[in-house]
Amino acid sequence: MLNLADIGTVKEILRQHDFSFSKSLGQNFLINPHICPRMADSCACGAADCVVEIGPGIGVLTYELAQRFSRVVSFELDKRLLPVLSQTLSEFDNVSVINEDFLTADVEAIMSEYFDGKPFSVCANLPYYITSPILMHLLESRFPIDNITVMVQKEAADRICAEPGSKMSGAISSTVHYYSEPQKLFDVSSGSFMPAPKVNSAVIQLKVRKQPPVSVDDEQFFFKVIKAAFAQRRKTASNSLASGLGLSKAVIDDALIQSGFDKNIRAETFTLKNFADISNFLSRC
Ligand code: SAM
Repeated sequence: MLNLADIGTVKEILRQHDFSFSKSLGQNFLINPHICPRMADSCACGAADCVVEIGPGIGVLTYELAQRFSRVVSFELDKRLLPVLSQTLSEFDNVSVINEDFLTADVEAIMSEYFDGKPFSVCANLPYYITSPILMHLLESRFPIDNITVMVQKEAADRICAEPGSKMSGAISSTVHYYSEPQKLFDVSSGSFMPAPKVNSAVIQLKVRKQPPVSVDDEQFFFKVIKAAFAQRRKTASNSLASGLGLSKAVIDDALIQSGFDKNIRAETFTLKNFADISNFLSRC
């Protein structure tokens, strides 16, 4: 049995394939043997028996997923890793590696081909340079996802999981909470990777909701309101909303007061229900 988290094994595999890390593709490979089994176990706790992985690297997490799920589809952009993955995952016949950029791939078509339209989970040690676009793509596309269990930068984990209405909250946490129930599972030190990144990491899990937690008349406008409210954090919500939505301050102040707020309120104090009330009020004006 291969131990793909063993630093000696990783170095030997990389040497055999004459592989050098690409910084621009966010290549920091896990070399701590405790992380991947834990991530795969948490992800497999959900109801889905199919899983999508983004960025398998040399296959350290893929190896664990293949033992817990009936089908694994891994998207790897770096074609130099394809021969490595054929070698490290050769004992599994339930893993398919797709050599495409996850953000531009036709995920829906690929999922219907490999998963026959069945629900799936997502598990990944994400390339950090595209953490938000990947999470937004997964959530906004409304794929039939059970849970998203991913490693991200620790600071990003805190921002993503922050409860709307709390000091750390922002556009990303409000959007993530609308689509899912996020929680931080555990921290991971930078020494768990090769090469070691400058930042620490954390594994988070987003349990995707079947229904949004608040009722919104116009979803597109609701997200526009959230984005505008947080666009200028130092300003009051009223000023940010007026400039972000291109509406007069009088209209915004009226919406805030009618929704029960002081017009000097700041965006980070808004809960999802507050955002829903304000956007419903403005969209009916
Ligand atoms: N899963 C491996 C591990 O934990 O050791 C590697 C994780 S590494 C942080 C991120 C991986 O994502 C790299 O293998 C990189 O080549 C791949 N990657 C980067 N951008 C990608 C994209 N847009 N689509 C798919 N894979 C990508």
